[in-house]
Amino acid sequence: MLSSNVFLLVVQATLYFTVMMTLLRARKSLGIGVFMCALGVMHFLETYLASVFYIQLPFGIISPGSTVMFSGKLLMILLLYIREDAAVVRQPIYGLLIGNFLIVGLVMILRNHNTVSVVPGHVPDIGFVDEMGWLMVWGTILLFLDSVGIIVLYERMGNLFGRHLGWRFLFCGAVMLSFDQAGFYLALRYISQAPIEVFLGGWMAKMFATVVYTGFFITYLKFFDDEKRWLTHRPFRDVFQVLTFRERYQDLLETTSLDHLTGAFLRRRYDAHAPEILKECLEAGKPLSMLIFDIDHFKGVNDRLGHQVGDQVLKAVGKLLKENVRQQDSLYRVGGEEFVMLACHLSADKAVGLAERIRKQIEQVSDVTLPEKVTVSIGVACAPDDGARLDDLFRVADQRLYEAKHRGRNRVSGPSPLA
Ligand code: GH3
Ligand code: MG
Ligand code: MG
Repeated sequence: MLSSNVFLLVVQATLYFTVMMTLLRARKSLGIGVFMCALGVMHFLETYLASVFYIQLPFGIISPGSTVMFSGKLLMILLLYIREDAAVVRQPIYGLLIGNFLIVGLVMILRNHNTVSVVPGHVPDIGFVDEMGWLMVWGTILLFLDSVGIIVLYERMGNLFGRHLGWRFLFCGAVMLSFDQAGFYLALRYISQAPIEVFLGGWMAKMFATVVYTGFFITYLKFFDDEKRWLTHRPFRDVFQVLTFRERYQDLLETTSLDHLTGAFLRRRYDAHAPEILKECLEAGKPLSMLIFDIDHFKGVNDRLGHQVGDQVLKAVGKLLKENVRQQDSLYRVGGEEFVMLACHLSADKAVGLAERIRKQIEQVSDVTLPEKVTVSIGVACAPDDGARLDDLFRVADQRLYEAKHRGRNRVSGPSPLA
């Protein structure tokens, strides 16, 4: 009897893993939606089983719903993350959370119906539905924490386990399922004064499930896998940002601090971020170069050709400047026709070289694409030599810009002899 219970559990886990893994593997041809829907449907069955369906094992009483389906689902979420990324895996995580709250909301409305019995003696068990609803709310919140937790833990453990994917998988599963069992038991204890054996039995079963699933996973990797990208190591902060949708907020902040005409950041972003950028560079023992650009005789362009052409010139200059910023650099429009570029880790002579290249490019491109040739003057300063505070750096770069204007415009003035 006991051994047949264990056998049946292993059969369930095999079936669950085989079908879900097949769907995950076929996501390129079937679409990832098939995998996600299957995951969601299983979630409902598992909550139902966790409320009423328990079996006896040698070490205690356990729920096949929690053991096979819940553990399986959490590990499937981890596998989805490893195969895809945080932006994909957050879809079922949030979907399950919202879907479960929706179920509870709908049940609250449904229970107000006057129902009729179509099969004699079969009436809806509202008491049970209520109990399951609460378990569902709590279980879903836990699942949400478990899912984010297992992914973050998986990334954190990269250094410790290195290439041993199986150990990493086993460790993350064991830690998060222990956490989950503790959380779930708290609710059971609160609702039905469940004895501590329920915690221990369930915990052993979840650990057993983790071992079995890890075994399946390793077997899968050895004999069936044909994709390469399993060993991921992504920056922990990025993963967390994506999982919690914080990158959307960051994007919003970025777009609201952009100047629409030129595509450069607005002055207020310079005020807010530039001191931090300088600080990070100096702490890392690296230089930070500041380039101030000012369009020559721009007032004349406006006066002769009108403001619209003036705007067109600004847009073109902004575009050329943006094309010259590397990913780690930033460009700000700090005045009407003045721009500041901050180039991290760029030494003074390299910065002067960059400024000179941009100056020539603007001269040449504007000659061909704009109604009138446009030139810029550029002042270059480099921290820490020209100042370790942002204001000092700006003042020196601005003085050099003034020198460049004074010496005839369309030139670069910087600390290096080249200028
Ligand atoms: P200099 O070579 O000494 O820099 O001469 P300049 O004419 O460029 O000097 P100044 O900095 O005094 O002129 C800047 C002009 O930029 C004044 C203003 O009319 C114009 N300006 C500022 N913002 C905008 C804008 O958004 N669009 C347009 N079309 N013009 C602008
Ligand atoms: Mg100016
Ligand atoms: Mg100017």
